[in-house]
Order: sequence, then structure tokens, then C-alpha cells
Amino acid sequence: MYGKLKDFLTDELSRIRDAGLYKNERIITTPQRADIRIGDGQPVLNFCANNYLGLSDNRRLIKAAQEAMETHGYGMSSVRFICGTQDIHKQLEAAVSEYFRTEDTILYAACFDANGGLFEPLFSEEDAIISDALNHASIIDGVRLCKARRYRYANADMADLERCLKEAASQRFRIIATDGVFSMDGNIAPVDEICNLAEKYDALVMVDESHSAGVTGPTGHGVAEQFGCYGRIDIFTGTLGKSFGGAMGGFTTGKKEIIDMLRQRSRPYLFSNSLAPSIAGASLEMFKILKESNALHSKLMANVSYFCDRMLAAGFDIKPTQSAICAVMLYDARLSQDFASRMQEEGIYVTGFYYPVVPKGEARIRVQLSAGHEKEHLDKAIASFIKVGKELKCIR
Ligand SMILES: *Cc1c(COP(=O)(O)O)cnc(C)c1O
Repeated sequence: MYGKLKDFLTDELSRIRDAGLYKNERIITTPQRADIRIGDGQPVLNFCANNYLGLSDNRRLIKAAQEAMETHGYGMSSVRFICGTQDIHKQLEAAVSEYFRTEDTILYAACFDANGGLFEPLFSEEDAIISDALNHASIIDGVRLCKARRYRYANADMADLERCLKEAASQRFRIIATDGVFSMDGNIAPVDEICNLAEKYDALVMVDESHSAGVTGPTGHGVAEQFGCYGRIDIFTGTLGKSFGGAMGGFTTGKKEIIDMLRQRSRPYLFSNSLAPSIAGASLEMFKILKESNALHSKLMANVSYFCDRMLAAGFDIKPTQSAICAVMLYDARLSQDFASRMQEEGIYVTGFYYPVVPKGEARIRVQLSAGHEKEHLDKAIASFIKVGKELKCIR
């Protein structure tokens, strides 16, 4: 019976290939870190991981994961509310609350699940969700699963947000949902202004800290720290899969009653397995590392300035970044692909993005910096950018 669907999928897949949109996965044979090896053994420097604090291969985290497996086992084989909660899960929730200065936290298998299960338990037809146009796919899906009325404002555009708030004035509850840092430009949501508008129009505020936690703010605690907005943001979601060690897992943290209701009604929490003990244990160690010293965050920020300053001096067109994401603008889709593959030949792993991932005519190379990069890694990447940039006539 598969025949008809098989034909359909074969056609569709070749259309994806013809459009140049087929995603090929590169096989990494080392741990995730700055210097990796891919399939054929070729060494490359990795500039496209979300490994912002360089913790993905951290020895202390690996050891903590091993220890947690010895003391707490391999798997939970249960959802949280049946028999899937260990002491380390509760300790990790407390550690997340402390980090974000919130009242309570609920863990998920991923931030995709945290966002997917956030809105439906809290809001219904009478309510309004007001969402930034560039929000992550998981927020979009979470909003889709909820019956609340949907409003969308242009990226980080406060006048447009105010328009939505006015239009939604007659709804019962209003919530503004935004990414902290937007992953394509590396720009940051103006959370202080968002909170001002929320207070003016009686709305709640939700911020997804996935790309901002560990990165933005004087000590990297995210957008609330950056804008001094502690206590004004009702809900944060975030991932353990980027700055926070990079394994997997997500969380929602915020007001006590909201978290309590999510434990009762959030479907990805109620119907999906608990975080593995190794991840819970290692994540506890990760928050300990971040509390002991700000060295990793300082190194990341120094790497971002070093890289961006030298790329600008070399004549590259770089979007002003407020994060560890640096968009090297090339504007042309083909050029972005040629550039990325030439960079890989030079031993630098970066990704070219073009429409529909970014707007038409805004093709780019996205560089993600890490505390795991040493100066020689940055220098090699910059030298390769300059070499390929001259070759492809992007700079002189
Ligand atoms: C990466 C990301 C997610 C998904 O996180 P996972 O834990 O990998 O599911 C959600 N929201 C934003 C903004 C992200 O960047």
C-alpha cells in the first residue's frame, strides 16, 4: 500500500534537492567542541554549535554525569508524576529557579516541549497571545496548540507590539511571548520596553532564554539581568541543550501557580519520560560551575568582540550582535553556500543561511562563538574568512 505515498515522497524530496534545500548531515566522530573531526577524519574548527560556554566536553560535567549514573541509575522509565521524580530532579529545578531568580521551575525533555506545553494549559478562547514574528518554531507550535487569539508583531518592533496590545484589549488575559535572543541576527529583544508595555496594557511577559541564558547580561544570566527586569517577567523557558552543557532538556521557570498548573496539565510533561539522571546530575554540576566563577562567560564575550572587531576591520558586513551569534552578511543565496563550502575546505565549519530561513536577499554565514574557542582558533577562522572573502570578491 506504500506505493502511492512512496512516489509522492520521492517527487517531493527531489523538489527539495532541486531547490537546494536538502539538509545533509555531517558526521562528527569526536566529542562536540571547538576542534572536531568529521566523517573522513578531516579536522575542522567548529563555529556553528550552540556550545556557547564550551561545556559540551567539560571534564567535570562528564564526571558528574558518570557519578549520577552510579548513584541514580541510567533511565527513569516513567513520567514525573507516576514514578519519574528523583531528588536530583527537584534539586535541579531549585537550581534553575535560583539562576533565574524565580519562584519555581518545571523540567521537560527539551525546550521544544516546554514551549509546546506552555500555552494550552494556561489560556483559552477568551485570551490573547501576542508573539514576535521571529519567535522560535516551538513557540509557534505551542501557540498553535492553544485556543487563545493570536497576534503577531514585527520583530522587536515596540510600536507594532503596542498595536497588538490595543487590539487585544478586550481579551481576558494577554501574554507577550518573545525569544530573548533571535537566532538568525543575534539581536536581543528589548525586554525592558516589552515589560513597560505589558504593565501599561495589563499583559503577562514570557521570554525564551534558549540563546540568551549564559550569554547576555553582565554575568550572562540572560535578558532579565541585561535589562534589570527581574520580577517583571512572569515566565522564562530555556534549554539545557545550548549554553548549559548542551546535552538535552528544557525548563519553564516563573511564578509558582503557573508552574504548579503546568505540572497538572502540561501535556509534554504529563505524557513524556523524565530527564535521565546523568543529565540531571551533570546539570546540577553545571550550575555549580557557573556559580563558582564567571570565567567562561567573560571568555565568551572577549571572543565575540575579538572576532567581530577583526571581521569588521577586514571589511566584512556584520550585523550588530548583542549575543554570541555573528551574522556575516553576503545577501546572495548561492554565494552563501559557496562561501560555506570553501570555508569547510579551509577547515572552518560554518553554515550559510538563505531564504526561507532568513528573508529573501539576506543570505549570510552565521558564526557562533564559544568560550571553547582559543585565540588560535579565532585567528584561523578570521584568516580563512579573509582568504575566501577575497577569492569570492566579498571584500577587497
Ligand atoms: C534551541 C531552541 C529551542 C529548542 O530547545 P531544545 O531544548 O533543543 O528543544 C527552543 N527555543 C529557542 C528560542 C531555541 O533557540
